[in-house]
Amino acid sequence: MHQMTLAEIARGLADKKFSSEELTKVLLARITQLDPQLNSFISLTEELALEQAKAADARRANGESGALLGAPIAHKDLFCTQGIRTSCGSKMLDNFKAPYDATVVAKLAAAGAVTLGKTNMDEFAMGSANESSWYGAVKNPWNLEHVPGGSSGGSAAAVAARLLPAATATDTGGSIRQPAAFTNLTGLKPTYGRVSRWGMIAYASSLDQGGPLARTAEDCAILLQGMAGFDQNDSTSIDEPVPDYSASLGDSLQGLRIGVPKEYFSAGLDPRIAELIQNSIKELQKLGAVIKEISLPNMQQAIPAYYVIAPAEASSNLSRFDGVRFGHRCENPENLIDLYKRSRGEGFGPEVQRRIMVGAYALSAGYYDAYYLKAQKIRRLVKNDFMAAFNEVDIILGPTTPNPAWKLGAKNSDPVAAYLEDVYTITANLAGLPGLSMPAGFVDGLPVGVQLLAPYFQEGRLLNVAHQYQLNTDWHTRTPTGF
Ligand code: GLN
Repeated sequence: MHQMTLAEIARGLADKKFSSEELTKVLLARITQLDPQLNSFISLTEELALEQAKAADARRANGESGALLGAPIAHKDLFCTQGIRTSCGSKMLDNFKAPYDATVVAKLAAAGAVTLGKTNMDEFAMGSANESSWYGAVKNPWNLEHVPGGSSGGSAAAVAARLLPAATATDTGGSIRQPAAFTNLTGLKPTYGRVSRWGMIAYASSLDQGGPLARTAEDCAILLQGMAGFDQNDSTSIDEPVPDYSASLGDSLQGLRIGVPKEYFSAGLDPRIAELIQNSIKELQKLGAVIKEISLPNMQQAIPAYYVIAPAEASSNLSRFDGVRFGHRCENPENLIDLYKRSRGEGFGPEVQRRIMVGAYALSAGYYDAYYLKAQKIRRLVKNDFMAAFNEVDIILGPTTPNPAWKLGAKNSDPVAAYLEDVYTITANLAGLPGLSMPAGFVDGLPVGVQLLAPYFQEGRLLNVAHQYQLNTDWHTRTPTGF
């Protein structure tokens, strides 16, 4: 039962092969049994799950239908869930019970999805390995000595280990696509503004975007359908109609123009990954796609620009966690300054403190022009590169990451080494474009992802290409041993 995809679950529920309650019980038992190896959940919400499953079964008995009605999912622990701990992977919010549901949570609940729990994540979504969580590192089910990627490592590890079929995640600089690549999943970061950020605890507001993590493009289409849409509570949400993502999955790829940036195949890329990417290109050519070499000349500037902009926004967003308005409060403060200092010093981990300091520095008088303003200019150049490329091609294809999942602890002493691993993903966030990662093979038993980028609001095109690829390859069906 745990092997089923969302699409298979929807068919099984519609055909009355099993109930949502039965399935929910099976998955909750599986999580209890297997998750101690992975640490992918921060909170399990058993009571809520069983209540929602029963309600979904009752709605089906009354003649309602829908792909998410009775479907078990989990939320990354930065989506606010009413009355349930929403920790953001931080000691700072260990005791925070959100007073309301995030729009994404409310929308999925209304569609009948069943919340099994809240998944582990890098503290405040800062990281690429899921090692900065206050609740401990998450392990990669493909090799328990390796990281699952981050910051949505809990959602990725849980779905890859078949503890559940799909989960929500967020992507500020790659945190949906990179863990998807490291755990053999399909993950989609939508266009900025496509999915509401209301109730999603902010890391870098101009970059953050929620999206689905699942095993197939077909399932990402189902979950995205439930998440996307205009929200008047989010002033950056865009009032564009949401297309039927499942309806375009079957479109032919005949004549699809795929751009492959020449800068992607430079020295930093593991040659074994380069070869797998070339194989995926050949596969898509067989399906009728036409390949064109393109150039994204400002790509190398994207990492330094991102690592100024994201910390700058974070330093501002995280100022609310001061022990007064939000978050952990220290014992017996001597005065107000002592309260702030110790509450923040105790509540935030080292990576979060580092980013707040970098961000505050980049925004300070005298340095603003040299760092923040410069980074924003680079951001525009990165966007312009994409706009020029999309005049010539329909999709951009390349690796999701330069290397496969590294060993736990391998990059802990050198944060910049981890930042460099984001080279292929962060440009989409800087430009606000949609991006998808899908399984493309293995290196030393570890999964490798291929990334597809599309013009604004072309999530349907990404899902279509990935689905056609998945109909003709079986990488996405591989299961990690022991799960
Ligand atoms: N690795 C990037 C960072 O640490 C991206 C994280 C994310 O997308 N949330 O900022």
